[in-house]
Amino acid sequence: MTEKVIPLADHRYAARVPVIPAHLTAPDGLLADRLGRPLRDLRISVTDRCNFRCSYCMPKEVFDKHYNFLPQSSLLSFEELLRTARLFVAHGVQKIRLTGGEPLLRKHLEKLIGMLSELRTPEGRPLDLTLTTNGSLLERKAQALKDAGLQRITVSLDALDDAIFRGMNDVDFPVADVLRGIEAAERVGLGPIKVNMVVKRGTNDHEILAMAERFRHTPVILRFIEFMDVGATNGWRMDEVLPSAQVVERIHAVHPLEAIEPNATGETAERWRYLDGGGEIGVISSVTQAFCRDCNRARLSTEGKLFLCLFANEGHDLRALLRGNYSDEQIAAAIGLIWQNRDERYSELRSAMQADTGSGQRRVEMHYIGG
Ligand code: SAM
Ligand code: SF4
Ligand code: SF4
Repeated sequence: MTEKVIPLADHRYAARVPVIPAHLTAPDGLLADRLGRPLRDLRISVTDRCNFRCSYCMPKEVFDKHYNFLPQSSLLSFEELLRTARLFVAHGVQKIRLTGGEPLLRKHLEKLIGMLSELRTPEGRPLDLTLTTNGSLLERKAQALKDAGLQRITVSLDALDDAIFRGMNDVDFPVADVLRGIEAAERVGLGPIKVNMVVKRGTNDHEILAMAERFRHTPVILRFIEFMDVGATNGWRMDEVLPSAQVVERIHAVHPLEAIEPNATGETAERWRYLDGGGEIGVISSVTQAFCRDCNRARLSTEGKLFLCLFANEGHDLRALLRGNYSDEQIAAAIGLIWQNRDERYSELRSAMQADTGSGQRRVEMHYIGG
């Protein structure tokens, strides 16, 4: 019998304390990294906890009752989050996505949404404020989220077949409850709703067509995500990745599709439209087609570490600054310097590097920095 190796995952990811530049230049929204990429999208993980145990994200054998989730005192408070978000907006961020873990588990999340919804870009526009959820608490919370100022929502759902879905979330959670959450979100006007399906070959790829048919001719935009090699705990294998091109082929064979233009530069999903007017789908090909060239996303972990790439193994400890005696000008300048030095482009380099989850370099886990 071969011994099963259970990979480690904890919060002690390396993080540098950011340098405060000697000359403080005020943010002008024109920040660019070393590859000329602007900063437009901030993803904030509001909790590292989750009530699901999706095997591709928080496998049960690692995230069990002995796992040390972050204590409350480590989490950025809503005031700290608002202050950080305001500095990022000054640097050009136009979109904020709340994620996790399961963001709806964070107590009084509506309050944070209310605070963030007041922010304005330097041109005076409201932010594109959204949230990604597993949908388990959505039926109950949709109205409060909408009332607080959330504009739209993304719900993850990996199958319509109840047994497959219960197996994938690994806590026996039924499909019907997530569908009711999606309906509630539609009712209260949290649209356009996106539904994310992570496709794992051999696990749920035979659900692709059923999912496509469930959401055709509805305003919901279904997006298929390639199973990614994030973190070091999800036992990623290339042969479990179904390339998005095959997802499109399978749907196209039954319901013909045509490619459509992206909505915005840096958008992760490639868009396709049903020729019969049945609406659109998206595919996110993070493994088979690198989209680093336009990547304008930064990620803030639950404890205030800034990550410049989903596959980073080191963060920048903004919390140390937020809880130190630093002014907004100083912290904004530190963030500016971090972004200016960014040259991450993991997906583009992946093929050259050969994806290797056991290379000794600890990569950050998905539930900790969000998707
Ligand atoms: N708990 C929420 C949820 O599941 O929607 C938000 C956090 S979750 C980390 C964000 C997104 O990342 C989800 O759509 C999830 O399916 C996706 N995700 C997690 N692990 C993944 C992996 N290994 N490959 C591709 N997508 C993944
Ligand atoms: Fe939880 Fe979302 Fe990760 Fe699933 S993908 S374990 S729902 S954080
Ligand atoms: Fe952005 Fe990193 Fe993903 Fe490339 S691999 S698209 S740089 S998050």
